[in-house]
Amino acid sequence: MRYAVLGTGIVGRTIAAKVASLGHEVVIGTRDPKATLARTEPDGYGNPPFAQWLALHDRIRLEAFADAASWGETVVNTTAGAGSLQALEAAGATNLAGKVLIDIANPLDFSQGMPPSLKPVNTDSLGEQIQRAFPDSRVVKTLNTMNSQIMVDPTRVPGDHSVFVSGDDPGAKQAVTDLLVSFGWPESSVLDLGDISTARGAEMLLPIWLRLWGSLGHADFNFHVAGA
Ligand code: NAP
Repeated sequence: MRYAVLGTGIVGRTIAAKVASLGHEVVIGTRDPKATLARTEPDGYGNPPFAQWLALHDRIRLEAFADAASWGETVVNTTAGAGSLQALEAAGATNLAGKVLIDIANPLDFSQGMPPSLKPVNTDSLGEQIQRAFPDSRVVKTLNTMNSQIMVDPTRVPGDHSVFVSGDDPGAKQAVTDLLVSFGWPESSVLDLGDISTARGAEMLLPIWLRLWGSLGHADFNFHVAGA
């Protein structure tokens, strides 16, 4: 399978490396490949410059959003939530049409300082905004409720814990569930919340996730729905 992973941050890098390790072909998408490769400073979260990471992953290529999306059979959105619609516009509706579009982004709004709030929230979600903006894509919200390392290695957290999927297309949700199982998630841990409007709840877990991160002092934790 050919995966286009849109986003050069820690989530994009982590998902791309995992998917490549499973034998898939991967292209990472960015706004401006030359500018991204020219960065020499760590990103805003302290991750090494992208070129340094890419040099260690010779099977992965970097392309502009549109080139990555047109090449990929499945597209993964790992861009900053506030820029996701712009990133997907740049990827191009035609290049996304008919494809499973896995949305891992959170619509964090830092405009009022820390901790961030959510925008949209309550009566809408980023997952729904993406599905409305790209009606021919098969959007599945998943994996946004945990740290990136756990997304691809659930054994980092002991015991049973949960990953949610939200989306309108049952076939797309099954394809994403199969991918999650290939990442090491037991199928019983994958909880189908329902249609894409259920992404509201998954995104609204972020405020409690951020507070837990602060109080526990680490990110190796996850939500577990007992009795599911
Ligand atoms: P990030 O720093 O939030 O996002 C970086 C990516 O967003 C880059 O590829 C950047 O493009 C793109 N971007 C930023 N503003 C843009 C704009 N205005 N237009 C188009 N693209 C734009 O990276 P991250 O920490 O890996 O997080 C990625 C997403 O996953 C976020 O939505 C985050 O909330 C969510 N998430 C993160 C974690 C985690 O463990 N960090 C866990 C769960 C969910 P360029 O490549 O061109 O710079």
